[in-house]
Amino acid sequence: MNERPLLFAANWKMNVAPGEARTFLDRFLSLDKPRVGRTVAFFPPAVSLETTAARLRGHEHYLAGAQDVYWEAKGAYTGATSVALARGAGASAALIGHSERRHIFGETDAETNRKVRAVLDGGLMAMLCVGEKLAERERDETEIVVTRQLRAGLDGVAAGADIVIAYEPVWAIGTGRNATPSDAALVHAAIRRVLVQLGFDRDTRVLYGGSVNAGNVAQLIAEPEIDGVLVGGASLDPDGWAGICGVVGQG
Ligand code: PEP
Repeated sequence: MNERPLLFAANWKMNVAPGEARTFLDRFLSLDKPRVGRTVAFFPPAVSLETTAARLRGHEHYLAGAQDVYWEAKGAYTGATSVALARGAGASAALIGHSERRHIFGETDAETNRKVRAVLDGGLMAMLCVGEKLAERERDETEIVVTRQLRAGLDGVAAGADIVIAYEPVWAIGTGRNATPSDAALVHAAIRRVLVQLGFDRDTRVLYGGSVNAGNVAQLIAEPEIDGVLVGGASLDPDGWAGICGVVGQG
């Protein structure tokens, strides 16, 4: 059994409008049993953040977060969401450096760092995503890539800051191919070594993401190095997502 509290995070990406979020959460909350030692986080698109956070308010074991933020506090940045705006909508966390931000929108390591620091300065939890592309894995560069992403993303961040790391191999996201639990655990152990070198303590959670589903989640979280999951596609159905989150405390 894992000693760090588990975190199950749903990344809805560019799906789930405000009305759909309300219907989803009504159904999910009717199915899910809150559990001590497990938090469920929802990362809806920006337009659905306020609705999501409002529906979860008062539920101790659930939280809402932004999928991305911009580091500037305010101004002429069309389309961007500041940390203060996300927080005002009810966010208590933000995803930073998701591979789709890095590889579709061209976000650099330096930019992820500015975002992580803005999130922490604004009093939210930062969930920093790291992970290698297929070609990098095939060149045996996984550890080099995630180490670079971690060191750059956490540059200037105080040890003890409210961070979670999500290891998401790019080749596993939305592809139906997931890292085996033992492969993921090896990378998680490498991530933890870097975190310790950077002064973070062993309580820092490291989640796994990439084609997690009802069929593989139990084996993944059985690995002591895996402190929860970040889930895209399989978090879009309330019954399915409740089933995944419900794996905690079974059997
Ligand atoms: C993700 O979007 O972070 C993700 C892991 O997606 P999927 O579960 O669909 O692979």
